Amino acid sequence: MGTLYSSLKFLHFADHLEALRQGTVRAPIHIRIKPTNICNHDCWYCAYRVDHLQLGEVMVERDTIPREKMFEIVDDCIAMGVKAITFSGGGDPLVYKPLPEVVERLAAGGVRVATLTNGANLKGRMAEVFARHGTWVRISIDAWDDASYAHARRIPEGEFSRVCANMRAFTALDSRCVLGISFIVTRENHAHILEACRIFKDLGVNHVKLSGAVVANDGAENNAYHRPIKAATGDQIAAAKALSDSRFTVIDHYHELEERFDKSYTTCPFLQYLTVIGADSAVYTCQDKAYTQLGLLGSIRDRSFREFWFSEENRHRLYTFNPAENCHHHCVSHSKNLAILDVLAIDPEHGNFV
Ligand code: SF4
Repeated sequence: MGTLYSSLKFLHFADHLEALRQGTVRAPIHIRIKPTNICNHDCWYCAYRVDHLQLGEVMVERDTIPREKMFEIVDDCIAMGVKAITFSGGGDPLVYKPLPEVVERLAAGGVRVATLTNGANLKGRMAEVFARHGTWVRISIDAWDDASYAHARRIPEGEFSRVCANMRAFTALDSRCVLGISFIVTRENHAHILEACRIFKDLGVNHVKLSGAVVANDGAENNAYHRPIKAATGDQIAAAKALSDSRFTVIDHYHELEERFDKSYTTCPFLQYLTVIGADSAVYTCQDKAYTQLGLLGSIRDRSFREFWFSEENRHRLYTFNPAENCHHHCVSHSKNLAILDVLAIDPEHGNFV
């Protein structure tokens, strides 16, 4: 299996680089759809739910994309040539009842599908459909046993064991779908990273991606939260990496956290590659500005996604959005933007002198 995470995947899409040079708009390659904001867990660090983080500031917790609207979006994505769709939160995507049908329609239309989830509903028909059609499923976890899981998510004890059972059953299916874990490192769990990775490896998951909890809009404040645990976390990650073998990998994104806050660039080229559709039937710039006024590209409540995406209104917004002014917070696409801007800055007169 090749590399799963890379900032350089954009290099496969030369037409998008050309569109950026010309100031035109192409269909996004990848869309994150948030089918619902309803969630069966209540994680204390959930950026969409806590009040002190900008992310999710205008999120309405009961919002859900109506079934007809969802199928309109799906048909638009297929017609536009969108390559991949990830279902994510807001809420937990797997509580959205029509999802199995949605996944089947997308797969039949040639669109790759994946989902982020807490894993509680990764069972029955939902698990079968992702096992059959999914490219990957990533379960977000922040704990190492029933008590720590219940505490972090403010749910009754026993759920960690149930999610682990779901994972074990999923990995036993005859499937090419990659099952990964997104482990959010906090002060509470950092000393248990190795222990948790051992459990996940034993369950048959393919990889564990370790990222730091984002607890503040401001980079300095966020770094202050992580500073006391940074060294010990590094030791845990190094020990966990030693568990890696041909079928299990530990991926360290924890140590990239500090770089992702300050932006010196004045356009965000990655907006052409990935966009976000919220459970409020609105389109947002990215997952780091979802459900914020600043990140709103436009509503698709009374028009189709396709009509909106290729509108002059959207083109203008995509090209005038200024990260140096508007994105002083965590950005998962920061290294991708830097790489794309580097490519776009190459003087064509000198481009052949490789
Ligand atoms: S710079 Fe990052 S946070 Fe800002 S709009 Fe672009 S992808 Fe989103």
